[in-house]
This record gives sequence, C-alpha cells and structure tokens, in this order.
Amino acid sequence: MAKKDIDWSKLGFAYQQTDKRFVSNFKDGKWDEGVLTEDANIVISECAGVLQYAQTVFEGLKAYTTVDGHIVTFRPDLNGERLEQSAARLEIPVYPKEKFVEAVVKTVEANIDYVPPYGTGATLYIRPFIFGSSPVIGVKPAEEYQFRIFTTPVGPYFKGGAKPITIRVSDYDRAAPHGTGHIKAGLNYAMSLYQIVDAHNQGFDENMYLDAATRTKVEETGGANFLFITKDGTVVTPKSDSILPSITRRSLMYVAEHYLGLKVEHREVPFEEVKDFAECGLCGTAAVISPVGKIVDHGKEICFPSGMDEMGPVIKKLYDTLTGIQMGRIEAPEGWIKVIK
Ligand SMILES: *Cc1c(COP(=O)(O)O)cnc(C)c1O
Repeated sequence: MAKKDIDWSKLGFAYQQTDKRFVSNFKDGKWDEGVLTEDANIVISECAGVLQYAQTVFEGLKAYTTVDGHIVTFRPDLNGERLEQSAARLEIPVYPKEKFVEAVVKTVEANIDYVPPYGTGATLYIRPFIFGSSPVIGVKPAEEYQFRIFTTPVGPYFKGGAKPITIRVSDYDRAAPHGTGHIKAGLNYAMSLYQIVDAHNQGFDENMYLDAATRTKVEETGGANFLFITKDGTVVTPKSDSILPSITRRSLMYVAEHYLGLKVEHREVPFEEVKDFAECGLCGTAAVISPVGKIVDHGKEICFPSGMDEMGPVIKKLYDTLTGIQMGRIEAPEGWIKVIK
C-alpha cells in the first residue's frame, strides 16, 4: 500500500470519502462487535429517531504523522469518555470508551494511506457518531442505534498562517442553563446555523455567546472554547455548566501550568472583564487555537493589544508547545499520544 495521490497542501476542510469506516449496531439491548465496511451510505427508516427527534451525538479528533514518522492520535480516551457522557444525556446507549479507542485505531489503520505526511499541515479528521436508527413517532428514545466512525483528510485550518479573527457578541443564546450545552450533540449546532450565517453576512468570523440566564458572562463560540490572557500573563478560561468541555482547552491549561510555568484560572468570566485582557483565542481540535483580534459588542469594539496581524505572544507559546507535543517535537505527558503505527 502507498499513500493516496492527494495534493495534501491543497486540501480544505471538506468531506472526502475514504476507503473504510467502522460500523457497530445496537440491537436487542447490546452493541455488536462492529465491522469495517466500504459502504459510505446508510439506509434507515424515514421515521428513525435521529431524523425525527435529532437523537444523535458525535466526536471529532485527528490522526497525523509525527516528526519521526509515527501515525498517532491525541488523547482519544477523552473523546471516548465525552461521547459516553453525551450519549447518556440523550438516552442513547453508551458505547464503552475502551471499545471506542479500539474502533478509532481500527478505522485509522484501515485508512492509513489517507493520513497526510508530516509537515503538510494536513491531518486525517476522525468523526465518530451515534444515532437512533429505529422508527420513533411517539416521543421516546429509539430502540436501535448505530455507532459509526468515518475519516476524511483535511487541510491546515489556516492556510498561510493563523491570522487573528473578528467575532461579535450574539443576540441569540447557544445553550440554556441545565440544558445540553455541555454535550457534543448535533442539536447544539443546528440552532447555531442561523447565527453563524448571519455573522458571516455581517462580516464577522464567529459568534461569542454569553450565558443565557444573565447575558453577563462569557460562555463560548458555536464550536470552540475561549482562552484569555491577562496583562500579567495569567491564562483564564470561562467556567460554566453549559460550556462543552474542550479537550484542546483542557490540554492547553495543563501545558500552560506544567510546561510554561504560567498561572491558570478556570472561573466565571464577566463580559465586563474582557476589555482588560491582553490576548484572546478560541480553542478546539480543528485549529488548536485561533487568535481573536477584535470583539464587537453592538458597535462597541474591543481591540486586543496583540492586534490583527499575528497571534499574541502567550497564545503563540501555547500553540507552539501543544502542536509540538502533538507532532512529537516535544515530549508529551504520559498517556497523551496514542501511537497507531
Ligand atoms: C467540539 C467542541 C469544542 C472543542 O472541543 P475539542 O475537544 O477541543 O475539539 C468546543 N465547543 C463546542 C461547542 C464543541 O462542540
């Protein structure tokens, strides 16, 4: 086998079908062993739980080639754990996290020729998900489910380097207190599509959501957590029960404290305080960190001292250290890197 003939440097962030995907079905109260299949299509009842009542949860992680030529994934056990929590909240049967990691490994192995080479900036994006597959018309959980993992090669999130973005404070809410903001469910994205399209139409890259109850505290964007740096170099990240617990954010906080010797705070962040920060970034698997240069609150601009040309110095250090750990240039904490080959 040989690497696929793909122009890795030209890849965007779009779905491209690869050879194999992992499929396991839940029937009669249990998950089957699962198989790798070439069939990229799913045939389900028109009345399937996922189609009628959005009973589905997902994950997102990457496989990539390290500097010494290994193919690895980053902390897949945490994705497995989070998928368990997401499933439980939507009455979806839990797919055990140990089996999840095994299935991720199998799927990447089966598509190994699609893992981009080191240095291209491209990665193999892995999308595990579970959905209710049996018919449901009265409101209740489905009886049958499918767990599936597909992969798709994706380009570097930022072509030509990470330029700071501009975001706006949204007039809509992302997640209710005691709702589903803390789980990775498609339903949290469906209701954000209007806001993101509108933000783009108005010339903004993303929406900042505030807490739905008081509209005074920072939550997150549609798909990434916030990270702020104070003027004296402390890393601050908002705490709320309706924020999705980003694995990238949790890893960056560890790196800040244990690799860079920075002070870290995970606490409520009043929007009032945002104007006093020195740097701001968004974190998630796709981009690791996207620097934020400007936040617009109904015409009032907050411009961070780090400016609109490059990442602020602390965010840059965090970015370089975490990507260094992921790419094998810096020694990783125990258990962070799952070597596949
Ligand atoms: C997936 C996701 C993130 C980022 O999480 P990572 O584990 O770092 O990829 C942040 N916010 C939301 C709403 C998400 O769905």
